[in-house]
Amino acid sequence: MIKMKQMKRSCDYLMLSFEDAWRRIAAALAPLPPVRRRSALVSGLVLAEEIIARENMPSFVAASMDGYAVLSSDDSSERSITGEQDAGLKLDLAVTKGTAVRIMTGAPLPAGADAVIPFEETVEAAGVVRLLSAAEPGANVRPVGQDIAAGEIALPKGSVLGPAEIGLLAALGHSEVSVHPRPRVSIMVTGNELVAVDEIPKPGQIRDSNAPALFSAATACGFDAVALPHPIGDDACKLEQSLVEALAVSDMLVTSGGVSMGTLDLIKPLLAGLGEVLVGRVAIKPGKPLTFAMVQGKPVFGLPGFPVSSLVCFELFARPALRLLSGLRLLWRPCVEVRLAQTLRHDPDRTEFQRAIVETDPYGFTARSTGSQSSSRLKSLVGANALLILPVGMGDFPAGSRVMAFLINQPEALADLPLPIPVSIR
Ligand code: AMP
Ligand code: MG
Repeated sequence: MIKMKQMKRSCDYLMLSFEDAWRRIAAALAPLPPVRRRSALVSGLVLAEEIIARENMPSFVAASMDGYAVLSSDDSSERSITGEQDAGLKLDLAVTKGTAVRIMTGAPLPAGADAVIPFEETVEAAGVVRLLSAAEPGANVRPVGQDIAAGEIALPKGSVLGPAEIGLLAALGHSEVSVHPRPRVSIMVTGNELVAVDEIPKPGQIRDSNAPALFSAATACGFDAVALPHPIGDDACKLEQSLVEALAVSDMLVTSGGVSMGTLDLIKPLLAGLGEVLVGRVAIKPGKPLTFAMVQGKPVFGLPGFPVSSLVCFELFARPALRLLSGLRLLWRPCVEVRLAQTLRHDPDRTEFQRAIVETDPYGFTARSTGSQSSSRLKSLVGANALLILPVGMGDFPAGSRVMAFLINQPEALADLPLPIPVSIR
């Protein structure tokens, strides 16, 4: 058991801005070491090597339409058909002046031929074909290497492997590739007052809503999540044991509760004893006690217990961190400027992330608050599609003013800003 005496209290930690907290977190993290995986099983993963085409695609001159392979310089209007070339077979057919070979899409072009006239532009009778259009050299023919030339970069390192990339790997004969594995995150909720959803709370107890909410948040963004089966009580020995065990089987640990100032808030001192606490307080609302530590080379996020705080902090810290571990380069949700439909009160001491519903109208994006922003009120997140960013140093925001907002129901598909927080205010 680590010694908990002489440990820092929560308020002894430096209060960091959101940007500085994130900078410290990002500096401590790196993509997970690459592993070899079968190409059919890498959907959504990030490529950890450059894929150079080992061969030309196509590797032979091929017909790109069903029709007749001909010699374009041949000006005879009728040609005798000397055979049929189907896809998948290499025949020793040749085309000479006055002849044509019936050919199917994807079949190798017979020797001598340099154009394909589609069936639609021909008339065939008694073994002779009459062309209704002139044969241009190269018409309906795919030259060697037209799609990709041998030696060309087929997929750069860092590519996110989706259907097209996986198809290309198969086409080029890469049955295995090097990828960053999908991080596995363990979720551990703490608090003496918590019971599981199917238990009846005794006086003073409440049901744990954070484990299922955080599990959903992690799996919704494509990560492998494991929630510890029961809430852990506020007991240093039990917490330490669970923490060490959970960390051993995961790439990242997320805890909820126990990071504030209470006498039973034991997570920070435990993490400080087991590893290094790099973030102990952040000037944000919700989420002031957000804690980040590296323990045995693995990241641990100590999220505050209030249900909204824990989900918002997961969104703002744990999710981009999981993306970083995955090797993804785009970490942040799209951030857009929105017009406030109503006045918002704001404490200038902290950057606030208010839950809102953003809709488009002819003037752009308009944001409506989801009502009371209490950190315990999960309903402030129900149906919310945005986190409005009310920057530190600013007071109330009158109706009609413009603020930036993370669109939390949109994928990270747009180019990242240099820093997650845009500070534009009007
Ligand atoms: P804490 O961060 O442990 O001080 O908890 C702050 C508040 O969040 C307290 O009112 C807790 O009862 C509540 N809370 C903590 N953990 C959970 C949880 N897993 N589910 C629901 N509420 C929680
Ligand atoms: Mg607690």
